[in-house]
Amino acid sequence: MPDKVALVTGGSKGIGRAIALALAEDGFDVAVAARGPEALEKTAREIEERGRQALAVPTDVADPEACRALIQRVTGDLGGLDVLVNNAGAAPFLSTFESARLQGWEKYFRTTFTSAVYCTHAAAQALLAREGASVINVASVAAFLASPGLTYYAAAKAALVSFTQTLAREWAPHGVRVNAIAPGFVETDMNSSAREDPSYHEMIRSQIPLGRWGTAEDVAGVARFLVSDAAAWMTGSVIVIDGGQSLSVFSGP
Ligand code: NAP
Repeated sequence: MPDKVALVTGGSKGIGRAIALALAEDGFDVAVAARGPEALEKTAREIEERGRQALAVPTDVADPEACRALIQRVTGDLGGLDVLVNNAGAAPFLSTFESARLQGWEKYFRTTFTSAVYCTHAAAQALLAREGASVINVASVAAFLASPGLTYYAAAKAALVSFTQTLAREWAPHGVRVNAIAPGFVETDMNSSAREDPSYHEMIRSQIPLGRWGTAEDVAGVARFLVSDAAAWMTGSVIVIDGGQSLSVFSGP
């Protein structure tokens, strides 16, 4: 495979880190972006240990100018962009709709949804110039399921799914594929404090037909497939990976 370049936002930790490392193993040079520089540098070293070029770019993806500067840096230093993974997202917090502050809604939307728009818009010309380029948006099963206490999160992820589908249609004639991944409960820093309560951990586990929480590597496997030639005829797809949790159950009379 000729040298290809991927950028993973939120690539310093959790799902983003696992995707960045998997793509490095599959032959991509990988740029990672997040706010905290230390974890970012650590992931960059792990990418290099896999024999690929790495670039760590401290970035707040909630800032459109920062996203523009990020893409310029990646395309300048690594020579282009073949895969953009919009993965960055902040930890959700429980809040009933009527008690949530509107500023909180807007801030959360900017970090979880609009950031993907900022990065994809900034990367559009670079992606359209590259044969076989693709975008992956990391959504959530919350995009499809009622999620009490998480209205802002579920709505932001639903917006990401809609963005995926329409952009897929717009960019299909250019050969750029746009897909999304919708994970269920995955053990990462995002839910580490909630998981400290063993009864919460077990309650979630018991709802998952495959009998365990997901790992970041489970999700990375889907990303690895979506950017590969095996998914060459897939665009506008949303792949659910949740151990079967969102399957409905009919127990009968
Ligand atoms: P995580 O371990 O907390 O990692 C989040 C990543 O996003 C970190 O690298 C973080 O780094 C970065 N980030 C957060 N805000 C950012 C900002 N404003 N600018 C740039 N980077 C930012 O969380 P995760 O579980 O891997 O989540 C990754 C994605 O998967 C998120 O979009 C999340 O909604 C989605 N997801 C997760 C689950 C789950 O159960 N874990 C389920 C469904 C979907 P900094 O804080 O240093 O910036």
